Amino acid sequence: MSQAIRVAVLLLAALPLAAETSRVVVLKIDGLPPAALAANRLPNIERIFTRGGTTLDNFYARGLSLSAPSWSLLDTGRPLEIRGNVEYDRYTLRPFDYLNFVPFYFSAGAGGRVDMRGVELLDELGVPLLLDRFAIKERHQAFQLLQRGVRWDTLKSALKRFVAKAPGELLDEWIVGMSLGDSLNKQYEHDLLLALKDPKIRYLDYFNGEYDHVAHLTNDPVSQRHQLEELDAFIGRVWTAIQQSPLASTTSLILVSDHGMNTNAAVISQGDNFVDWFNSKAGGAHHVLTNRHPLSEFKVRGLDPFVSTVITPATQPGYLNGQGDQYPTVMLDLDGNERASIGLRNNTLNTLHIFLDQLTRRTLPGATRAAAIDAFMAELENTRGPWMQDLADLDRQLKSLEPQIAGLRRTVAAQPKKWTKEQIAQELHRSANRDSRKLALLEEDRRDYTAYAATITRLLKLTPADFDPGKFKLTEVIPARSLGPSNTLWDLQNYVTGPGPQGFVLTPDGKFDWERSFTRVNYFEALHNIAVRNNVQSAVSARPVDFVAVNTRDGIWLYHDEEHQVLLNGTYQPVAHLRANPDGTLTYEKRPLGPGLPLAYFEDPNLAVPPDWLLQSHTDQEWLAATHKTRSSNAITGLATQLGENTSGTEYQQRQRALRRTDLLVVASDHWNFNVRGFNPGGNHGSFLRSSTHSVLMFAGAGIPEGRHIPEPYDSLSFVPTVLNLLGRPEPGLPGPVIMGLIP
Ligand SMILES: [Zn+2]
Repeated sequence: MSQAIRVAVLLLAALPLAAETSRVVVLKIDGLPPAALAANRLPNIERIFTRGGTTLDNFYARGLSLSAPSWSLLDTGRPLEIRGNVEYDRYTLRPFDYLNFVPFYFSAGAGGRVDMRGVELLDELGVPLLLDRFAIKERHQAFQLLQRGVRWDTLKSALKRFVAKAPGELLDEWIVGMSLGDSLNKQYEHDLLLALKDPKIRYLDYFNGEYDHVAHLTNDPVSQRHQLEELDAFIGRVWTAIQQSPLASTTSLILVSDHGMNTNAAVISQGDNFVDWFNSKAGGAHHVLTNRHPLSEFKVRGLDPFVSTVITPATQPGYLNGQGDQYPTVMLDLDGNERASIGLRNNTLNTLHIFLDQLTRRTLPGATRAAAIDAFMAELENTRGPWMQDLADLDRQLKSLEPQIAGLRRTVAAQPKKWTKEQIAQELHRSANRDSRKLALLEEDRRDYTAYAATITRLLKLTPADFDPGKFKLTEVIPARSLGPSNTLWDLQNYVTGPGPQGFVLTPDGKFDWERSFTRVNYFEALHNIAVRNNVQSAVSARPVDFVAVNTRDGIWLYHDEEHQVLLNGTYQPVAHLRANPDGTLTYEKRPLGPGLPLAYFEDPNLAVPPDWLLQSHTDQEWLAATHKTRSSNAITGLATQLGENTSGTEYQQRQRALRRTDLLVVASDHWNFNVRGFNPGGNHGSFLRSSTHSVLMFAGAGIPEGRHIPEPYDSLSFVPTVLNLLGRPEPGLPGPVIMGLIP
């Protein structure tokens, strides 16, 4: 492109469209795949959108095809901040439970929290939602994951009915997908239709998770069609209400989904239980932390379905016997369920813990004990430098919060005790509650990080003399309920899960035997080796794990098995036998392109370029165009989004972002899922498979071309800039391209 043309194109992209749209109505349908719309006769969707509007034929979720992250990209148009439906801070195991709305609703009702957890996080990082572009009086937001404020007044009774249901039924309705039950959906439709009559309101949205819910539960086409027909009828009612509304001629209606679903009438999805596997010897005999109780356990024991931290202890742990509550050693985020994000406790912390455990028992023979104390001190010495530096950084970052905390304290102390009607109408009470909540979160973080730092400091100060009887308690030097610093790739390939089969042993020349004194797991091999014997469906692999992805210094590494691996670094480079060295360097063999590699582009007939193209460096847009029709569709940009770095914000914010990262992303083979709370026989999403990332985006109404199909591929990042452009308020600086072709 010549410079002049490039400038012209940029100008065109930044120009507001003929400002025919003064109001947008966004219907957010969780997990709705375009294939489901194509397979059913849905007269309203066909009339309003397919014939009467514009359809994106190739619109994709960018990153994991998973509700919390997907909606966060659709709602912000900014780089990814939310990487799972739940995340934990590694140091404190503070949960960020983006889906758990019940505690939020109850504490919001009592005047405590104002926004859902995801919105709180985005606010902290200064990332606005689409609706934040509109004044409070101009917007109408329905219940959803990224909810700002609660319209508590109209919802109290509907919610109470919902929560008062038999807990088992509640679980079935809500925990599998995002279903709200009929009463809430009716309430929200009623509110939406009412809001359409108010010409001040310029942004309206509505969220529905019923299709996602049903498709997880059953692959029966009739049940799914029933849901789609209800959705279609609802869309018909909204369209009619728009036509009768005062802003009929300038309203655009948008139908959008956050991801698809791999549901298929011919295949029953199979579940693999990662909690059991990580509990087992092959998985490392971990005490396992998850965000919900397994469904079976909940049903038998009647446990609280809405907790955010559940520990399932190993029955035969390599160490830490009976200490699951204090020392969970792996964190599993299994949501979405064609993938799992896994955070393992720091490998060095495990090693030091095992030393201390053995040494404080005082059952070791004298020579072994003396050698073990030396070895412990050597390991401590090795890690002291980087860990001390980390704690010094943390201390400095916590001190940098002081002015903010002091300021918030003054603001909160000055808040009025009572609010006038006018103040409430301006939502001043909510901003005040937001300040109180922000202060509480900052103070809790500071307290918990300080406690973590104090414990690690005591650990790093241990000397050989401390091993005399009764000098310290283990809990004083090993932080409880903490995963510690993240693991290196070397750690994950040489992960210590307990003492060796003979306990601590010496080499023939009397030195501490590092090799035989510990049991180790290479998590890449171990996860690949999970296999089922009695596999009856030919379309379903005997191996639940397709590949494992981690970010390395040489790029994103995808591991299928020892021979089939890929490094992504702008290019798609096949490699084999990749090994990390303790100093962080990698060794591997480059391989030619061929079949059986992760993402399977080479053998895909829908790859739009010759295979050799994959070996060269390309931009995101070029990757998307070349690969989106393949089985793995936009996985390259998806993986870069999920595993890539985000360097905006303060040092403290970057630290917190890093502490929410997990060690491993495990991607399931097609039709497998890891949803231990209740396996989803009907279908799943979460992976980078096209069936799961291919999403719905349709426009109708003011100024939208009729009967137009846009074949060019776009992803979630294009949603916000396109809607803003439609409204004649383009916003430079958003990373995603505006969807061209919506101009008549
Ligand atoms: Zn779902």
